Amino acid sequence: MKHIAIRMCAGCRGRFEKTSMMRVVRSPEGGAVYDPTMRVSGRGVYLCYNRKCVDIARKRHALERALKVAMTDSIWEELERALEKSTSDDAVVND
Ligand SMILES: [Zn+2]
Repeated sequence: MKHIAIRMCAGCRGRFEKTSMMRVVRSPEGGAVYDPTMRVSGRGVYLCYNRKCVDIARKRHALERALKVAMTDSIWEELERALEKSTSDDAVVND
């Protein structure tokens, strides 16, 4: 039986397979980084590939609260790029 990891989206609070979500992880330096590999160790938070979820999480400071670190504009820009890439490729990360 295949184990499917389910994570909660910090935007819509829906639960989905983590392979179909974006992950942001707390870095050892005390900031937050986008983790496209899903393999960086550390406290992580997840978001759907959905602009609405990213916007909600940003407005509510959901990632800051989850990770207890400040989010910089560059992280949001990275997430935006990941969003755009996923919608243009029509490909959800399956690794
Ligand atoms: Zn969501």
